[in-house]
Amino acid sequence: MKSKIGDIKEPSPSVELTGKIVSLREAKSNRNGAESIYHYGIIGDDSGTIQFTAWNMPSSIREGDVVELKNCTARIYNDRIRLTISSNTEVVLRPEEHMEVKRVYNEFRIKDLNLSDPYVTVSGTLSAVTERETEIRGEKVKLFNAFMDDGTASVRISSFGQPIEEGSQIKITGAKVTEFNGRLSLTMGQKTQVEKIKVSIEKGNRQYLLWDMVSPVGNVGFTGIPVNVSDRSGIIEKCSVCGKFAEGSVCRDHLDAAVVKDVSCYFTLEDGTGSISCFMDGEILKKYAGIEGDIESIDPVEVKQRIVKSLESTVVKVEGNMSQKGESFRLKVISIGTVDDKEVQAEMQKEQ
Ligand SMILES: [Zn+2]
Repeated sequence: MKSKIGDIKEPSPSVELTGKIVSLREAKSNRNGAESIYHYGIIGDDSGTIQFTAWNMPSSIREGDVVELKNCTARIYNDRIRLTISSNTEVVLRPEEHMEVKRVYNEFRIKDLNLSDPYVTVSGTLSAVTERETEIRGEKVKLFNAFMDDGTASVRISSFGQPIEEGSQIKITGAKVTEFNGRLSLTMGQKTQVEKIKVSIEKGNRQYLLWDMVSPVGNVGFTGIPVNVSDRSGIIEKCSVCGKFAEGSVCRDHLDAAVVKDVSCYFTLEDGTGSISCFMDGEILKKYAGIEGDIESIDPVEVKQRIVKSLESTVVKVEGNMSQKGESFRLKVISIGTVDDKEVQAEMQKEQ
């Protein structure tokens, strides 16, 4: 018997349905040591939507296609019902069928936002709002950019047309999760509902385990041990105009610009559940490594040694903004401090 998607709430070994592929993404898996490609996304009908994982998706299927599925399974995964399309599932394209999808917007904490659930409800406080004019299909539209923070993490947000205000607290329903330059973003369109609310943001509760992170978000923290402090750490030269690395004392984009000296370092942070590549520079690094005064007057070898020494065999608590490159996460450190033995022990007791 065919199910309506909105009625699928319990696990079932065999589900039959007709739905429209709302989103379809490809990913790689390393199950049992063998690399394989799988797909995930959202399928919906006029009663609702459901997430799916497809181990065997015909390559002709595209976003927007209406398909009939026979013999897929429904399972609870991360507290949500999800469909699995396996090699036993029959997937038949129904090109002649048109279907309206009832959008369901699941409520997310910013830390848990991810591309497999791309239409969401999120609440938070806005900051760093900027405004400019842009053109969409020949029409002038105001584009607002900002950051949204809900106490668990922060994320970039863009609003096309709908004004957003600095410092305001809002709940947005029907925003789209996207990825840009390795970072997660939220996009609000004309149809996104905006509601003013009051949210309480808990400070200092952003320490996570690395294996808990599903997406590259901002303002999150980890506690771990820095390993592999890179050889490239130490004094570097930066362009005085754009701030990018000036290799060989020249910026490729600003050939005539002066270069300035700064310090930077790369290391890997391990917390026992995973590892993340970290980058730290400027005043944060100078203060942490105890590098004072004019760096031009300090021996570069000594600067490097101080950086390495300040990180080696130390437990640190870092906070920063994540980005993603390929499969791995990176962190631009925005704050760092050492953790003493007492704090480490207290943390370990909490986890037990
Ligand atoms: Zn430059």
